Amino acid sequence: ASGYSLLRDPHHNKGLAFTEKERDAHYLRGLLPPTVISQDLQVKKMMYSIRKYKVPLQKYMAMMDLQETNERLFYKLLIDNVEELLPVVYTPTVGEACQKYGSIFRRPQGVFISLKEKGKIHEVSRNWPQKDIQVIVVTDGERILGLGDLGCQGMGIPIGKLSLYTALGGVCPSACLPVTIDVGTNNEQLLNDEFYIGLRRRRATGLEYAELMDEFMTAVKQNYGEKVLIQFEDFANHNAFDLLAKYGTTHLVFNDDIQGTASVVLAGLVAALKVVGGTLADHRFLFLGAGEAGTGIAELTALEISKQTNMPLEEARKKISLVDSKGLIVKSRIDSLQHFKKPWAHDHEPIKKLVDAVNGTKPTVLIGTSGVGRTFTKEVVEAMAALNDKPIIFSLSNPTSQSECTAEEAYTWSKGRAIFASGSPFDPVEYEGRVFVPGQANNAYIFPGFGLGLIMSGAIRVHDDMLLAASEALAAQVTQENFDKGLIYPPFKNIRQISANIAANVAAKAYELGLATRQPRPKDLVKYAESCMYNPAYRSYR
Ligand code: NAP
Ligand code: MN
Repeated sequence: ASGYSLLRDPHHNKGLAFTEKERDAHYLRGLLPPTVISQDLQVKKMMYSIRKYKVPLQKYMAMMDLQETNERLFYKLLIDNVEELLPVVYTPTVGEACQKYGSIFRRPQGVFISLKEKGKIHEVSRNWPQKDIQVIVVTDGERILGLGDLGCQGMGIPIGKLSLYTALGGVCPSACLPVTIDVGTNNEQLLNDEFYIGLRRRRATGLEYAELMDEFMTAVKQNYGEKVLIQFEDFANHNAFDLLAKYGTTHLVFNDDIQGTASVVLAGLVAALKVVGGTLADHRFLFLGAGEAGTGIAELTALEISKQTNMPLEEARKKISLVDSKGLIVKSRIDSLQHFKKPWAHDHEPIKKLVDAVNGTKPTVLIGTSGVGRTFTKEVVEAMAALNDKPIIFSLSNPTSQSECTAEEAYTWSKGRAIFASGSPFDPVEYEGRVFVPGQANNAYIFPGFGLGLIMSGAIRVHDDMLLAASEALAAQVTQENFDKGLIYPPFKNIRQISANIAANVAAKAYELGLATRQPRPKDLVKYAESCMYNPAYRSYR
């Protein structure tokens, strides 16, 4: 290849970091200015220019530009500055990027499969240049973050998630494939937008939808084999649970909104118990919101309780109550409930208001997964504080404006007694001379390490016990020093090490369950995980 095309190949380009010898050997003389600089200096320079942008979307576009021109520098930047850049390449900025995806779209960074490709998905997906795919993140764009139906413009989500698979979990970038399934959109604004990039029709449902998804899932297995991980992302709950159940027995599938959330929140709960005391079975749980996140967390928590106590799962579920938009989920509502809510319909009188549900079910733990902000009112938090010495309160809804309460509200209304975590980040809060550092139950703690664990063991199915293994590994990494600051999650800057530990625990479980195909089992799984992780340092070309 010519030097000119080398500079335009994002997988091999090093920009000014090409050495003198490389410049001679690869016909680069004259195509670069004379200076040779190190990758570290390139990182410093890029951070300098990214920090100059004040508008988050401009930072996002600068990062995407870098990903398309110099992939290794992009990942080095992201890994070395993970706390600062995560909100740029992922939530909240990626949400804005999806909303404006039509106008910022430049070059394809993933595969679009629309109803037009029906009957040809197998061939169409082969147009993607990489053949050794290990992880696919796929969305149909119907429930993008808390932003609703963004149709084809949801593509920003699989791209962003996969860049975290690489940066945080060390999965090789060439093994990652972002996919958006376009079956139309019900978003009127997009349908009327002349610059909209997707199919201009309302969403296909029923058989038409199921057939397209099925053709896609079959094509994936034909193209990439049994061991490719397919992560479903930001599907609406009326499809998400069904897809997971349907393909869970034939493919290696994982839904981050249901299962990843469950695993990261359970880890936070387990860590919080070290501060509050008691076992999970000693506690009572109340959720506001009974969708993917709420019922996902509830189910994994019940599973863990039943494992710890040998209690039947049905008994364990009785420690957990959920409130949806119509009030407390109770037996008398069972006929009208969506199937994923039915296991939570307990014998109880109907209750409409959250504060009455708190006083009626007396929870020690209150978790918000409703997507509706300001629903943990002063009255609700005070009721939790009246019932408990140290109430556990998680406001998980995103973005920040939808958080059920702020960190400051949780600490002040509970008079500094709440153990608090949130979905969106909050700054530390000072209350009566003490500083409280709220935890962030970020899914990015779990899914990259979880995926790495599946890949490195050659797992062929996801099992709930692997989610528990991931959760346990994360909770185990919270140190006494972290607890002393009020943290229930470990600091994010150590995420690569955290991911390696999670991967090792997940892989160990895969071997134990007989679901791992990579034989023989490596002796030291943490070391093996570390050795599998992609390193973005430049390689030398001779
Ligand atoms: P979802 O499947 O649409 O579920 C939302 C649930 O909230 C539904 O059960 C809905 O009730 C209920 N709800 C809506 N308005 C309500 C109200 N006013 N009062 C009580 N309940 C109400 O959505 P999801 O995927 O579970 O996500 C929910 C939220 O969790 C989002 O904001 C998301 O950002 C957040 N989340 C956070 C994390 C994290 O922190 N790591 C992870 C995942 C999700 P009906 O069923 O009656 O409609
Ligand atoms: Mn999601």
